[in-house]
Amino acid sequence: MTPYPDLHLYINGEFRKAASDLPVLNPATEEEIGRLPHAEKSDLDDALDAAEQGFKTWRKVAPIERANVLYRAAALMRERQEEIATAITAEHGKPLSQARLEVIRGCEFFEWDAGEATRTYGRIIPSAPGARYSVHHQPIGTVAAFSPWNFPMSQPCRKVAGAIASGCSIILKAAEETPAGALHIARALHDAGLPPGVLNLVFGTPAEISDHLIRQDSVRLVAFTGSTAVGKHLTTLAAQHMTPVLMELGGHAPVIVCEDTDVEAAAISGAERKMRNAGQVCTSPTRFFVHESIFDAYAETFVRRAGATIVGNGVDPDVEMGPLANDRRIGALTDLVDDAREKGAEIRTGGSRLGDTGYFFEPTVLANVPDNARVMQEEPFGPLAIINPVASLDEAIEKANSVPYGLAAYGFTNRADYVDRMVESIEAGNVSINTLEASLPETPFGGVKSSGYGREGGTEGLHNYMITKNIMHSLSIV
Ligand code: NAD
Repeated sequence: MTPYPDLHLYINGEFRKAASDLPVLNPATEEEIGRLPHAEKSDLDDALDAAEQGFKTWRKVAPIERANVLYRAAALMRERQEEIATAITAEHGKPLSQARLEVIRGCEFFEWDAGEATRTYGRIIPSAPGARYSVHHQPIGTVAAFSPWNFPMSQPCRKVAGAIASGCSIILKAAEETPAGALHIARALHDAGLPPGVLNLVFGTPAEISDHLIRQDSVRLVAFTGSTAVGKHLTTLAAQHMTPVLMELGGHAPVIVCEDTDVEAAAISGAERKMRNAGQVCTSPTRFFVHESIFDAYAETFVRRAGATIVGNGVDPDVEMGPLANDRRIGALTDLVDDAREKGAEIRTGGSRLGDTGYFFEPTVLANVPDNARVMQEEPFGPLAIINPVASLDEAIEKANSVPYGLAAYGFTNRADYVDRMVESIEAGNVSINTLEASLPETPFGGVKSSGYGREGGTEGLHNYMITKNIMHSLSIV
Protein backbone atom coordinates (compact mmCIF):
# COMPACT_ATOMS: atom_id res chain seq x y z
CA MET A 1 0.00 0.00 0.00
CA THR A 2 1.26 3.51 -0.86
CA PRO A 3 2.22 5.48 2.24
CA TYR A 4 0.21 8.48 3.39
CA PRO A 5 1.79 11.66 1.95
CA ASP A 6 4.06 13.97 3.90
CA LEU A 7 1.78 16.98 4.48
CA HIS A 8 2.67 20.58 3.59
CA LEU A 9 1.18 23.97 3.10
CA TYR A 10 1.54 25.24 -0.48
CA ILE A 11 2.26 28.95 -0.73
CA ASN A 12 3.66 30.95 -3.66
CA GLY A 13 4.55 27.80 -5.56
CA GLU A 14 6.43 26.17 -2.66
CA PHE A 15 5.54 23.31 -0.35
CA ARG A 16 6.38 24.26 3.21
CA LYS A 17 6.00 23.14 6.80
CA ALA A 18 4.65 25.34 9.59
CA ALA A 19 5.84 26.20 13.09
CA SER A 20 3.37 23.71 14.60
CA ASP A 21 1.47 20.66 13.51
CA LEU A 22 -1.33 18.37 14.65
CA PRO A 23 -2.09 14.69 14.08
CA VAL A 24 -4.24 13.36 11.26
CA LEU A 25 -6.14 10.23 12.33
CA ASN A 26 -7.42 7.24 10.42
CA PRO A 27 -11.12 7.14 11.44
CA ALA A 28 -11.25 3.35 11.02
CA THR A 29 -8.41 2.68 13.46
CA GLU A 30 -8.01 6.01 15.32
CA GLU A 31 -4.27 5.73 14.61
CA GLU A 32 -2.14 8.71 13.67
CA ILE A 33 -1.23 8.62 9.98
CA GLY A 34 0.34 12.03 9.46
CA ARG A 35 1.17 15.43 10.91
CA LEU A 36 -0.71 18.42 9.55
CA PRO A 37 1.13 21.76 9.41
CA HIS A 38 -0.94 24.52 10.98
CA ALA A 39 -0.65 27.87 9.23
CA GLU A 40 0.11 30.88 11.39
CA LYS A 41 -0.84 34.46 10.60
CA SER A 42 2.50 35.00 8.84
CA ASP A 43 1.76 32.01 6.55
CA LEU A 44 -1.64 33.47 5.75
CA ASP A 45 -0.13 36.86 4.96
CA ASP A 46 2.37 35.16 2.64
CA ALA A 47 -0.53 33.38 0.96
CA LEU A 48 -2.42 36.67 0.57
CA ASP A 49 0.60 38.40 -0.99
CA ALA A 50 1.22 35.44 -3.27
CA ALA A 51 -2.42 35.28 -4.33
CA GLU A 52 -2.46 39.01 -5.12
CA GLN A 53 0.59 38.62 -7.36
CA GLY A 54 -0.72 35.34 -8.74
CA PHE A 55 -3.95 37.01 -9.81
CA LYS A 56 -2.06 39.77 -11.65
CA THR A 57 -0.22 37.11 -13.66
CA TRP A 58 -3.02 34.62 -14.18
CA ARG A 59 -5.76 36.99 -15.29
CA LYS A 60 -3.62 37.85 -18.34
CA VAL A 61 -3.15 34.23 -19.36
CA ALA A 62 -5.35 33.22 -22.31
CA PRO A 63 -8.32 31.04 -21.35
CA ILE A 64 -7.09 28.20 -23.57
CA GLU A 65 -3.73 28.20 -21.77
CA ARG A 66 -5.47 28.21 -18.39
CA ALA A 67 -7.53 25.29 -19.63
CA ASN A 68 -4.42 23.42 -20.72
CA VAL A 69 -2.93 23.65 -17.23
CA LEU A 70 -6.15 22.19 -15.80
CA TYR A 71 -6.21 19.42 -18.41
CA ARG A 72 -2.56 18.52 -17.66
CA ALA A 73 -3.25 18.50 -13.91
CA ALA A 74 -6.31 16.29 -14.41
CA ALA A 75 -4.25 13.87 -16.48
CA LEU A 76 -1.66 13.69 -13.68
CA MET A 77 -4.34 13.06 -11.07
CA ARG A 78 -5.76 10.27 -13.23
CA GLU A 79 -2.26 8.73 -13.40
CA ARG A 80 -1.97 9.07 -9.62
CA GLN A 81 -5.47 7.73 -8.95
CA GLU A 82 -4.38 4.77 -6.83
CA GLU A 83 -1.99 6.80 -4.68
CA ILE A 84 -4.59 9.52 -4.08
CA ALA A 85 -7.44 7.07 -3.43
CA THR A 86 -5.35 5.17 -0.90
CA ALA A 87 -4.61 8.37 0.99
CA ILE A 88 -8.29 9.37 0.96
CA THR A 89 -9.38 6.02 2.36
CA ALA A 90 -6.74 6.28 5.10
CA GLU A 91 -7.80 9.75 6.23
CA HIS A 92 -11.55 9.58 5.57
CA GLY A 93 -12.42 5.90 5.86
CA LYS A 94 -14.55 5.47 2.73
CA PRO A 95 -14.17 2.25 0.72
CA LEU A 96 -11.25 2.34 -1.70
CA SER A 97 -13.57 1.76 -4.66
CA GLN A 98 -15.51 4.93 -3.75
CA ALA A 99 -12.28 6.87 -3.21
CA ARG A 100 -11.11 5.85 -6.69
CA LEU A 101 -14.37 7.15 -8.19
CA GLU A 102 -14.00 10.36 -6.23
CA VAL A 103 -10.57 11.00 -7.75
CA ILE A 104 -12.05 10.61 -11.22
CA ARG A 105 -14.94 12.92 -10.33
CA GLY A 106 -12.42 15.55 -9.23
CA CYS A 107 -10.64 15.22 -12.57
CA GLU A 108 -13.96 15.64 -14.37
CA PHE A 109 -14.59 18.91 -12.52
CA PHE A 110 -11.20 20.14 -13.74
CA GLU A 111 -11.93 19.03 -17.30
CA TRP A 112 -15.42 20.52 -17.45
CA ASP A 113 -14.34 23.90 -16.08
CA ALA A 114 -11.30 23.90 -18.37
CA GLY A 115 -13.65 23.62 -21.35
CA GLU A 116 -16.02 26.22 -19.96
CA ALA A 117 -13.14 28.66 -19.47
CA THR A 118 -12.87 28.96 -23.23
CA ARG A 119 -16.59 29.71 -23.57
CA THR A 120 -17.25 32.50 -21.04
CA TYR A 121 -18.78 34.57 -23.80
CA GLY A 122 -19.96 38.12 -23.29
CA ARG A 123 -22.44 39.76 -25.64
CA ILE A 124 -22.94 42.73 -27.93
CA ILE A 125 -25.94 44.93 -27.18
CA PRO A 126 -27.59 46.64 -30.16
CA SER A 127 -26.67 50.33 -30.03
CA ALA A 128 -27.09 53.60 -31.93
CA PRO A 129 -24.80 54.33 -34.88
CA GLY A 130 -21.40 55.49 -33.62
CA ALA A 131 -21.67 53.54 -30.37
CA ARG A 132 -20.73 50.02 -29.27
CA TYR A 133 -22.15 48.44 -26.13
CA SER A 134 -20.78 45.13 -24.95
CA VAL A 135 -20.81 42.92 -21.88
CA HIS A 136 -17.60 41.25 -20.68
CA HIS A 137 -16.98 38.60 -18.02
CA GLN A 138 -13.75 39.07 -16.13
CA PRO A 139 -12.18 37.12 -13.23
CA ILE A 140 -13.31 38.45 -9.87
CA GLY A 141 -9.92 38.32 -8.09
CA THR A 142 -8.56 36.32 -5.19
CA VAL A 143 -10.93 33.69 -3.84
CA ALA A 144 -10.88 32.49 -0.22
CA ALA A 145 -12.24 28.94 -0.36
CA PHE A 146 -13.12 26.50 2.41
CA SER A 147 -13.74 22.84 1.60
CA PRO A 148 -15.09 20.13 3.92
CA TRP A 149 -13.99 16.63 4.88
CA ASN A 150 -16.72 14.49 3.32
CA PHE A 151 -15.13 14.45 -0.15
CA PRO A 152 -11.45 15.27 0.41
CA MET A 153 -10.67 15.36 -3.32
CA SER A 154 -13.75 16.28 -5.29
CA GLN A 155 -14.93 19.09 -3.00
CA PRO A 156 -11.71 21.12 -3.23
CA CYS A 157 -11.40 20.23 -6.94
CA ARG A 158 -14.68 22.02 -7.63
CA LYS A 159 -13.58 25.29 -6.09
CA VAL A 160 -10.02 25.18 -7.37
CA ALA A 161 -11.19 24.38 -10.90
CA GLY A 162 -13.77 27.18 -10.92
CA ALA A 163 -11.30 29.77 -9.68
CA ILE A 164 -8.39 28.77 -11.88
CA ALA A 165 -10.45 28.30 -15.03
CA SER A 166 -11.93 31.78 -14.57
CA GLY A 167 -8.54 33.47 -14.19
CA CYS A 168 -8.73 34.00 -10.42
CA SER A 169 -6.18 33.15 -7.78
CA ILE A 170 -7.31 31.12 -4.79
CA ILE A 171 -6.36 30.50 -1.18
CA LEU A 172 -7.87 27.15 -0.25
CA LYS A 173 -8.30 26.09 3.35
CA ALA A 174 -9.10 22.45 3.02
CA ALA A 175 -10.44 20.29 5.85
CA GLU A 176 -7.95 19.54 8.60
CA GLU A 177 -9.29 15.98 9.03
CA THR A 178 -8.71 15.13 5.36
CA PRO A 179 -5.83 17.16 3.91
CA ALA A 180 -4.31 14.66 1.44
CA GLY A 181 -6.81 15.17 -1.38
CA ALA A 182 -6.15 18.91 -1.48
CA LEU A 183 -2.40 18.36 -1.21
CA HIS A 184 -2.54 16.08 -4.24
CA ILE A 185 -4.45 18.75 -6.16
CA ALA A 186 -1.69 21.24 -5.36
CA ARG A 187 0.99 18.75 -6.41
CA ALA A 188 -0.73 18.04 -9.73
CA LEU A 189 -1.22 21.73 -10.55
CA HIS A 190 2.36 22.49 -9.51
CA ASP A 191 3.64 19.72 -11.81
CA ALA A 192 1.32 20.92 -14.59
CA GLY A 193 3.02 24.32 -14.59
CA LEU A 194 0.59 26.53 -12.68
CA PRO A 195 2.44 29.81 -11.94
CA PRO A 196 3.33 30.51 -8.28
CA GLY A 197 0.67 32.20 -6.19
CA VAL A 198 -2.35 31.20 -8.30
CA LEU A 199 -3.19 28.37 -5.89
CA ASN A 200 -2.26 28.54 -2.22
CA LEU A 201 -3.20 25.79 0.22
CA VAL A 202 -3.40 26.26 3.97
CA PHE A 203 -4.64 24.35 7.00
CA GLY A 204 -5.05 25.47 10.59
CA THR A 205 -7.76 26.71 12.90
CA PRO A 206 -10.76 27.26 10.59
CA ALA A 207 -12.27 30.23 12.44
CA GLU A 208 -8.92 32.06 12.67
CA ILE A 209 -8.16 31.52 9.01
CA SER A 210 -11.58 32.56 7.72
CA ASP A 211 -11.65 35.58 10.01
CA HIS A 212 -8.24 36.76 8.78
CA LEU A 213 -8.77 36.10 5.08
CA ILE A 214 -12.30 37.42 4.70
CA ARG A 215 -11.45 40.85 6.12
CA GLN A 216 -8.76 41.48 3.46
CA ASP A 217 -9.52 43.89 0.60
CA SER A 218 -7.74 41.61 -1.86
CA VAL A 219 -10.19 38.77 -1.19
CA ARG A 220 -13.06 39.26 -3.64
CA LEU A 221 -15.08 36.05 -3.19
CA VAL A 222 -15.71 33.68 -0.29
CA ALA A 223 -16.57 30.15 -1.42
CA PHE A 224 -17.62 27.70 1.30
CA THR A 225 -19.02 24.18 1.48
CA GLY A 226 -20.07 22.97 4.92
CA SER A 227 -22.76 23.42 7.53
CA THR A 228 -25.47 26.08 7.34
CA ALA A 229 -24.41 27.49 10.72
CA VAL A 230 -20.83 28.13 9.58
CA GLY A 231 -22.06 29.34 6.18
CA LYS A 232 -24.24 31.98 7.82
CA HIS A 233 -21.32 33.07 9.99
CA LEU A 234 -18.97 33.45 7.01
CA THR A 235 -21.67 35.24 5.00
CA THR A 236 -22.04 37.74 7.86
CA LEU A 237 -18.28 38.31 7.93
CA ALA A 238 -18.17 38.79 4.16
CA ALA A 239 -21.09 41.21 4.25
CA GLN A 240 -19.03 43.62 6.39
CA HIS A 241 -16.79 44.03 3.35
CA MET A 242 -19.49 43.68 0.64
CA THR A 243 -17.66 40.56 -0.52
CA PRO A 244 -19.88 38.15 -2.45
CA VAL A 245 -20.18 34.56 -1.30
CA LEU A 246 -20.74 31.16 -2.87
CA MET A 247 -22.40 29.00 -0.22
CA GLU A 248 -22.99 25.28 -0.64
CA LEU A 249 -24.51 24.30 2.69
CA GLY A 250 -26.46 21.54 4.34
CA GLY A 251 -29.39 19.56 2.98
CA HIS A 252 -32.08 17.21 4.24
CA ALA A 253 -33.14 15.61 1.00
CA PRO A 254 -36.67 14.26 0.64
CA VAL A 255 -37.42 11.22 -1.52
CA ILE A 256 -41.01 10.95 -2.72
CA VAL A 257 -41.91 7.39 -3.64
CA CYS A 258 -45.16 7.24 -5.59
CA GLU A 259 -47.51 4.27 -5.72
CA ASP A 260 -46.81 3.48 -9.39
CA THR A 261 -43.08 2.91 -9.00
CA ASP A 262 -41.10 -0.35 -9.01
CA VAL A 263 -41.06 -0.80 -5.23
CA GLU A 264 -38.22 -3.32 -4.99
CA ALA A 265 -35.85 -1.39 -7.29
CA ALA A 266 -36.62 1.97 -5.66
CA ALA A 267 -36.11 0.59 -2.14
CA ILE A 268 -32.80 -1.08 -2.96
CA SER A 269 -31.54 2.00 -4.77
CA GLY A 270 -32.57 4.15 -1.79
CA ALA A 271 -30.87 1.93 0.81
CA GLU A 272 -27.63 1.63 -1.18
CA ARG A 273 -27.41 5.34 -1.95
CA LYS A 274 -28.22 6.30 1.63
CA MET A 275 -25.21 4.38 2.94
CA ARG A 276 -22.78 5.77 0.33
CA ASN A 277 -20.04 7.77 2.06
CA ALA A 278 -21.72 6.69 5.31
CA GLY A 279 -24.49 9.19 4.55
CA GLN A 280 -22.07 12.10 4.89
CA VAL A 281 -23.23 13.80 1.73
CA CYS A 282 -25.16 17.07 1.55
CA THR A 283 -27.44 15.52 -1.09
CA SER A 284 -27.85 12.23 0.77
CA PRO A 285 -31.44 10.92 0.51
CA THR A 286 -32.81 11.05 4.05
CA ARG A 287 -36.56 11.67 4.39
CA PHE A 288 -38.38 8.97 2.41
CA PHE A 289 -42.07 9.78 1.97
CA VAL A 290 -43.67 6.62 0.63
CA HIS A 291 -47.26 6.23 -0.56
CA GLU A 292 -49.19 4.31 2.09
CA SER A 293 -50.27 1.62 -0.39
CA ILE A 294 -46.66 0.47 -0.89
CA PHE A 295 -45.20 1.56 2.44
CA ASP A 296 -44.88 -1.88 4.07
CA ALA A 297 -43.23 -3.52 1.06
CA TYR A 298 -40.91 -0.58 0.50
CA ALA A 299 -39.84 -0.33 4.14
CA GLU A 300 -39.28 -4.08 4.41
CA THR A 301 -36.99 -4.19 1.36
CA PHE A 302 -35.18 -1.00 2.35
CA VAL A 303 -34.50 -2.25 5.89
CA ARG A 304 -33.29 -5.62 4.62
CA ARG A 305 -30.82 -4.03 2.19
CA ALA A 306 -29.66 -1.33 4.61
CA GLY A 307 -29.17 -3.86 7.40
CA ALA A 308 -27.09 -6.06 5.09
CA THR A 309 -24.60 -3.26 4.34
CA ILE A 310 -21.06 -4.51 4.96
CA VAL A 311 -19.43 -2.03 7.34
CA GLY A 312 -15.69 -1.94 8.01
CA ASN A 313 -12.32 -0.50 7.14
CA GLY A 314 -12.47 0.92 3.61
CA VAL A 315 -9.26 -0.88 2.58
CA ASP A 316 -11.17 -4.20 2.71
CA PRO A 317 -12.51 -4.71 -0.85
CA ASP A 318 -15.77 -6.25 0.43
CA VAL A 319 -16.66 -3.27 2.59
CA GLU A 320 -19.57 -1.10 1.39
CA MET A 321 -19.53 1.53 4.13
CA GLY A 322 -16.63 2.87 6.17
CA PRO A 323 -16.61 4.70 9.50
CA LEU A 324 -17.90 8.20 10.08
CA ALA A 325 -15.21 10.75 9.34
CA ASN A 326 -14.74 11.93 12.92
CA ASP A 327 -15.95 11.28 16.45
CA ARG A 328 -18.23 14.35 16.46
CA ARG A 329 -20.60 12.56 14.10
CA ILE A 330 -21.07 9.60 16.51
CA GLY A 331 -22.43 11.86 19.24
CA ALA A 332 -24.59 13.84 16.81
CA LEU A 333 -26.22 10.72 15.36
CA THR A 334 -26.73 9.04 18.73
CA ASP A 335 -28.51 12.14 20.04
CA LEU A 336 -30.83 12.26 17.01
CA VAL A 337 -31.72 8.56 17.29
CA ASP A 338 -32.35 8.80 21.05
CA ASP A 339 -34.58 11.82 20.57
CA ALA A 340 -36.56 10.13 17.76
CA ARG A 341 -37.02 6.99 19.89
CA GLU A 342 -38.31 9.06 22.82
CA LYS A 343 -40.79 10.82 20.54
CA GLY A 344 -42.18 7.48 19.33
CA ALA A 345 -40.22 6.58 16.16
CA GLU A 346 -39.64 2.89 15.34
CA ILE A 347 -35.97 1.89 15.05
CA ARG A 348 -36.25 -0.67 12.25
CA THR A 349 -32.50 -1.38 12.13
CA GLY A 350 -29.30 0.05 13.61
CA GLY A 351 -29.23 3.13 15.80
CA SER A 352 -25.93 2.65 17.66
CA ARG A 353 -22.19 2.93 17.42
CA LEU A 354 -20.48 -0.23 16.16
CA GLY A 355 -17.56 -1.47 18.26
CA ASP A 356 -15.37 0.84 20.32
CA THR A 357 -12.43 1.43 17.98
CA GLY A 358 -12.97 3.50 14.89
CA TYR A 359 -15.95 5.80 14.34
CA PHE A 360 -18.31 3.13 12.99
CA PHE A 361 -22.07 3.56 13.15
CA GLU A 362 -24.74 1.07 12.20
CA PRO A 363 -26.78 1.62 9.04
CA THR A 364 -29.91 3.00 10.63
CA VAL A 365 -33.52 3.10 9.47
CA LEU A 366 -36.25 4.88 11.43
CA ALA A 367 -39.92 4.48 10.48
CA ASN A 368 -43.09 6.38 11.36
CA VAL A 369 -41.05 9.23 12.78
CA PRO A 370 -43.25 11.97 14.27
CA ASP A 371 -42.88 15.49 12.90
CA ASN A 372 -41.69 16.80 16.26
CA ALA A 373 -38.59 14.58 16.31
CA ARG A 374 -35.43 16.65 15.84
CA VAL A 375 -34.25 14.46 12.99
CA MET A 376 -37.23 15.58 10.89
CA GLN A 377 -35.71 19.08 10.81
CA GLU A 378 -31.98 18.58 11.49
CA GLU A 379 -29.65 17.11 8.88
CA PRO A 380 -28.29 13.82 10.29
CA PHE A 381 -25.27 13.77 7.95
CA GLY A 382 -24.78 10.09 8.59
CA PRO A 383 -26.12 6.62 7.66
CA LEU A 384 -29.65 7.31 8.86
CA ALA A 385 -32.84 7.08 6.80
CA ILE A 386 -36.36 8.07 7.80
CA ILE A 387 -39.26 6.24 6.12
CA ASN A 388 -42.73 7.68 6.66
CA PRO A 389 -46.04 6.90 4.91
CA VAL A 390 -48.01 9.59 3.06
CA ALA A 391 -51.55 9.49 1.70
CA SER A 392 -51.00 11.62 -1.41
CA LEU A 393 -48.45 13.43 -3.54
CA ASP A 394 -49.68 16.75 -2.16
CA GLU A 395 -48.92 15.60 1.38
CA ALA A 396 -45.48 14.35 0.30
CA ILE A 397 -44.63 17.68 -1.36
CA GLU A 398 -45.80 19.62 1.67
CA LYS A 399 -43.58 17.51 3.93
CA ALA A 400 -40.67 17.72 1.49
CA ASN A 401 -40.82 21.53 1.72
CA SER A 402 -41.26 21.64 5.50
CA VAL A 403 -37.56 22.00 6.40
CA PRO A 404 -35.30 25.05 6.15
CA TYR A 405 -33.14 23.25 3.59
CA GLY A 406 -33.58 23.09 -0.18
CA LEU A 407 -30.60 21.38 -1.80
CA ALA A 408 -31.54 18.06 -3.42
CA ALA A 409 -34.90 16.30 -3.73
CA TYR A 410 -35.84 13.05 -5.43
CA GLY A 411 -38.97 11.46 -6.83
CA PHE A 412 -39.75 7.93 -7.98
CA THR A 413 -42.60 7.67 -10.46
CA ASN A 414 -43.37 7.00 -14.11
CA ARG A 415 -46.35 9.36 -14.23
CA ALA A 416 -45.71 12.53 -16.21
CA ASP A 417 -48.26 14.52 -14.18
CA TYR A 418 -46.53 13.55 -10.92
CA VAL A 419 -43.15 14.55 -12.33
CA ASP A 420 -44.56 17.87 -13.42
CA ARG A 421 -46.03 18.59 -9.96
CA MET A 422 -42.77 17.71 -8.23
CA VAL A 423 -40.64 19.78 -10.57
CA GLU A 424 -43.00 22.76 -10.16
CA SER A 425 -43.53 22.57 -6.41
CA ILE A 426 -40.48 21.21 -4.65
CA GLU A 427 -38.29 23.89 -3.12
CA ALA A 428 -34.79 22.69 -4.00
CA GLY A 429 -31.92 23.59 -6.27
CA ASN A 430 -31.78 20.06 -7.67
CA VAL A 431 -34.71 17.71 -8.36
CA SER A 432 -33.95 14.21 -9.68
CA ILE A 433 -36.56 11.75 -10.91
CA ASN A 434 -35.96 7.97 -10.77
CA THR A 435 -32.32 8.52 -9.83
CA LEU A 436 -30.52 9.49 -6.64
CA GLU A 437 -27.77 11.30 -8.56
CA ALA A 438 -28.07 15.03 -7.90
CA SER A 439 -25.05 16.55 -9.54
CA LEU A 440 -22.58 16.07 -12.36
CA PRO A 441 -19.78 18.33 -13.59
CA GLU A 442 -21.98 19.50 -16.47
CA THR A 443 -25.03 20.36 -14.32
CA PRO A 444 -25.37 23.42 -12.05
CA PHE A 445 -25.36 22.43 -8.39
CA GLY A 446 -26.50 24.49 -5.42
CA GLY A 447 -29.33 25.19 -3.03
CA VAL A 448 -32.19 27.45 -2.06
CA LYS A 449 -33.33 28.57 1.41
CA SER A 450 -30.78 27.63 4.11
CA SER A 451 -28.91 25.36 1.70
CA GLY A 452 -27.12 28.41 0.33
CA TYR A 453 -26.78 30.22 -2.96
CA GLY A 454 -24.65 30.31 -6.05
CA ARG A 455 -24.09 27.34 -8.33
CA GLU A 456 -21.08 25.12 -8.92
CA GLY A 457 -20.64 23.25 -12.21
CA GLY A 458 -22.57 23.52 -15.43
CA THR A 459 -22.39 26.59 -17.62
CA GLU A 460 -23.55 28.61 -14.60
CA GLY A 461 -20.64 27.57 -12.39
CA LEU A 462 -17.94 29.96 -13.54
CA HIS A 463 -20.18 33.02 -13.18
CA ASN A 464 -19.54 33.08 -9.43
CA TYR A 465 -15.86 33.60 -10.12
CA MET A 466 -16.39 36.43 -12.61
CA ILE A 467 -17.70 39.95 -12.62
CA THR A 468 -19.93 41.26 -15.37
CA LYS A 469 -18.58 44.46 -16.89
CA ASN A 470 -20.68 46.67 -19.13
CA ILE A 471 -18.69 48.57 -21.80
CA MET A 472 -20.12 51.64 -23.52
CA HIS A 473 -17.87 52.87 -26.32
CA SER A 474 -18.77 55.95 -28.31
CA LEU A 475 -16.75 56.32 -31.49
CA SER A 476 -16.72 60.11 -31.04
CA ILE A 477 -16.85 62.30 -27.95
CA VAL A 478 -20.44 63.06 -27.05
P1 NAD B 1 -18.85 22.23 11.46
O1 NAD B 1 -20.04 23.06 11.26
O2 NAD B 1 -17.99 22.47 12.65
O3 NAD B 1 -17.86 22.32 10.19
C1 NAD B 1 -18.28 22.16 8.86
C2 NAD B 1 -17.10 22.55 7.97
O4 NAD B 1 -16.84 23.93 8.13
C3 NAD B 1 -15.78 21.85 8.31
O5 NAD B 1 -15.11 21.56 7.11
C4 NAD B 1 -15.00 22.88 9.13
O6 NAD B 1 -13.60 22.76 8.96
C5 NAD B 1 -15.48 24.17 8.54
N1 NAD B 1 -15.53 25.28 9.46
C6 NAD B 1 -16.04 25.27 10.72
N2 NAD B 1 -15.95 26.51 11.27
C7 NAD B 1 -15.38 27.31 10.34
C8 NAD B 1 -15.03 28.69 10.28
N3 NAD B 1 -15.30 29.54 11.31
N4 NAD B 1 -14.46 29.16 9.17
C9 NAD B 1 -14.21 28.36 8.11
N5 NAD B 1 -14.52 27.05 8.09
C10 NAD B 1 -15.10 26.54 9.18
O7 NAD B 1 -19.36 20.76 11.46
P2 NAD B 1 -18.64 19.38 11.33
O8 NAD B 1 -18.87 18.63 12.58
O9 NAD B 1 -17.26 19.47 10.79
O10 NAD B 1 -19.55 18.81 10.17
C11 NAD B 1 -20.89 18.47 10.42
C12 NAD B 1 -21.85 19.34 9.70
O11 NAD B 1 -21.25 20.02 8.62
C13 NAD B 1 -22.91 18.46 9.08
O12 NAD B 1 -24.05 18.47 9.89
C14 NAD B 1 -23.19 19.05 7.74
O13 NAD B 1 -24.33 19.87 7.79
C15 NAD B 1 -22.04 19.96 7.46
N6 NAD B 1 -21.23 19.56 6.33
C16 NAD B 1 -21.73 19.79 5.11
C17 NAD B 1 -21.00 19.44 4.01
C18 NAD B 1 -21.54 19.68 2.64
O14 NAD B 1 -21.11 19.02 1.70
N7 NAD B 1 -22.45 20.62 2.47
C19 NAD B 1 -19.76 18.86 4.16
C20 NAD B 1 -19.25 18.64 5.44
C21 NAD B 1 -20.00 19.01 6.53
